[in-house]
Amino acid sequence: TERTLVLVKPDGVTRQLTGEVLRRVEAKGYRIVALELRTADRDLLARHYAEHQGKPFFEPLVEFMLSGPIVAAVVEGQRVIEGFRSLAGTTDPTAAAPGTIRGDLGRDWGTAVVQNLVHGSDSPESAAREIGLWFPAL
Ligand code: ATP
Repeated sequence: TERTLVLVKPDGVTRQLTGEVLRRVEAKGYRIVALELRTADRDLLARHYAEHQGKPFFEPLVEFMLSGPIVAAVVEGQRVIEGFRSLAGTTDPTAAAPGTIRGDLGRDWGTAVVQNLVHGSDSPESAAREIGLWFPAL
């Protein structure tokens, strides 16, 4: 069985959508095996988003992720990496399909960084790396 890292980003926590996101994860049949509310620091975010360093949205992205608490979860189930990305919908919440987290709950707020409520690991390698960053004890 597989694991993925799910983040409810600061926009989702501020909008009090944590329960709604976790409800969808659980209703789909996945299991939450670790869960924490915490404020990230710059070092963690620089590692988490290492692939985006140097891109124009990198600094706004880090500032956004520092703007409030994040809910981090490790979620388990068969093909959960693909399954959570399907639940989340595409990156741009305006274009994301209705029925998805981003499509149902997200929109464009005119900010430099896309505020799209959630993060999910995009591959087994990313999941292992990201779970190690956010939950080093696991
Ligand atoms: P996530 O990794 O958060 O699940 P994703 O895989 O859909 O989202 P990535 O390409 O990894 O998106 O980008 C990480 C995050 O950076 C996005 O979720 C979004 O918040 C922001 N982002 C990505 N591309 C852009 C862009 N062109 N302009 C502004 N913000 C962006």
